[in-house]
This record gives sequence, C-alpha cells and structure tokens, in this order.
Amino acid sequence: MSYSTVIPGLEGGPLLTNHPVFIKLLPLDGYMRPGTGFSGTPIMVQHGTGNPNSSAASEARWLVDDRASGSQQSYHYITDDKETWVCLPLNEHGWHAADSGGPGNMRGIACEMIESTAVWNDPARRAKCIENAAEIMGRTAARKKASGPEQHWAFNYMLPTNLRHDCPNKLRHVYINGRLAWGIYVERFEFYYNEEIASMGGKPVPTPEPATPIKAGDRVRVTENLNVRRGYGLSFPVIATLPAGTIANVGNDPDGRHAVDADGYTWINIAFGKDSGWAASSWLEKIAAPEPAPAPTPKGKSFEVLYGPIPVRKEPGFNGKIIGEFSVGSKGKVVDGPKQMDTLIWYLVDGDVDGWIPTGILKAVDVA
Ligand SMILES: [Zn+2]
Repeated sequence: MSYSTVIPGLEGGPLLTNHPVFIKLLPLDGYMRPGTGFSGTPIMVQHGTGNPNSSAASEARWLVDDRASGSQQSYHYITDDKETWVCLPLNEHGWHAADSGGPGNMRGIACEMIESTAVWNDPARRAKCIENAAEIMGRTAARKKASGPEQHWAFNYMLPTNLRHDCPNKLRHVYINGRLAWGIYVERFEFYYNEEIASMGGKPVPTPEPATPIKAGDRVRVTENLNVRRGYGLSFPVIATLPAGTIANVGNDPDGRHAVDADGYTWINIAFGKDSGWAASSWLEKIAAPEPAPAPTPKGKSFEVLYGPIPVRKEPGFNGKIIGEFSVGSKGKVVDGPKQMDTLIWYLVDGDVDGWIPTGILKAVDVA
C-alpha cells in the first residue's frame, strides 16, 4: 500500500511512502519552532525516544499539544511501526541535538524513533519501526540533498559524559540476528534514498516559478508573528518580526521582483513602516484592494472652505504645528498635495494663511 503526503517544506511534491504520514505542526512561536532555516546542507539525525510506553501519535500530542511539558525541543518526524508524524516543516531547523547552535540543531533533520517496550520486544513490530524510520529519513534525504544518516550521539559530545545522550539507544545497542540495529537501519535508509532518487528521475528537484496570487501593489495581512528578512531566503538576516495582524504593502525590489521562490517558500517583498524586506507568503493573506490613490494634485485650482473654523498647519497631519485658521468661506489656491497622514488626505494651500489643511473641509473648484 502506498501513501501520498504533502509534507510542508519538502521540495518535489507529495511524498509517496509505504506507511502513512500525518501532519501535526508546532505553531511558529520562536521558541520550540524558531521558524528559521538550516545554516547549511541539512544532515539527517536519527533519535530514539527512550520512552518505554509511547507511540508516534502520543509523542506528537505531547510535543505539540502539551508543548513538551515546557521544554525547548522539536523535531521533524516521530515514527513507530505504524506511522510517521510531521511536527516541523522540512525547511526549518529544530531543537533536538543538545549541541546548542551546533550543526546537529542548526542543520539537522530529526526523526524520533519510538523505543517502546511493546514495539522493541516484538521482532515484527521492531523491524517495521526501523523500516518506517529508514524510509521517511532516506526519502527525505534524497529530496533535501542531505547528508547522513547520523546518530544524535554524534552531536552532543561537548556535554559531560554523564549528560551525553546515548541516542538512538535501541539502534546503537540492540542486535538483531547478530547484526547491530543501526547497521540494518543504515542499509534500509540507503535503499529508500536510492529509490527516491530514481523516482525523481535521478535529477535534482526543479525549482518552480512562484505561483502566488499576491501581486505588487496588493495589501497583505500577517497571519502569525512573522520574520521579515533582508533578502529572499532563510539565510538572510531577520530585520523585523511583524506581529500577527500587521498590514503591509507588496512592492518590488530594485530588480522589479515582488515574489521569489527559495528554501521552500515563496518570498514576498513587503513594505512596512519605513522599511522593506522579504517575508514568506505562507503567513501573508491578501486583503481588500489597496485604497484608491487620491485624486491628482489639483495644483493651482481654487478652493473654498466649507466647514470651519479649521486650523491651518505647518506640516500635514495632526502633529503639524498650527500656524493659523480658516473660517468658513475662506478662499485660496491649492499649492501641493495630496498627502496621506493620520488617515486623512491633506493639501497645502495658499490663502489668508499658507499651510496644510485636510480634505473634507475644502472644496476645490476649477479656476474660471
Ligand atoms: Zn536524541
């Protein structure tokens, strides 16, 4: 039986596997899921849960729903003899290798293999558990052009011996028919890696053109707290984190691009405040069309103040210094504007006083 799953952040379309794969992503919280990409070529890192009583489903619930009881940990896959659960997108790193900002965490694609007594005391279930973990990791390695597989043990050597994780414990220590389980795992990993490469036509995964409904000039709303980067890709520095609900305008970069695909995301060029940068489209939703541009400057046209008295300001906006006042019926000419400020449209006018007044109290009329 074959299963087809779209795995977030995994290039190349749905992944076909011999066991079912379920998605249960950690929220993008900057703590368990930092939302940042790998700092280099990904490395496949295999773990074991060390838990004598859990399943992949229960471990996924503990990680995502119970938030790992408050500990800062996260991994891409949790696998047992029945299924795999995906808890991190495959283009983001997690916290699982106990090597701080080292290559295990920053470049690792992690799989937690179930080590329950029920599975590991049953030769058939144990074999399928190894097979499933080798399959999801081997196929993923092919798609990601990743290195490995490596053991968690390879990365936390800087810890004191008594704290170093002897992980994946079962694969490292259990012998099956005279063979170390790790050797069996690696053999099956390579089998699936090669099968996946063959199914890809032996070619690298093509990079598709950006296919996004977001266009330059659109307004977008940030759906979750979102990192904005200097460039289009996870390797560029974060220049701002926009809170959910922020409204931004889609623009173009100096090369005229408003959307670029990289690192598994479509990056959108957005302007916010006085800055601009690139953000992943996955957390941007298009909102109503941009407000229509104000009418062209009616420069040189005469106006009449319909409501008053109104203050005249040195600069547009309610923070502009008041330099005079127009009463109802005051007349003059429009000199500059429109300018949008404090949700109103302002015009610089030339009358009894020269300054800025908001539209709505001024009626521009054609000069005869
Ligand atoms: Zn581990």
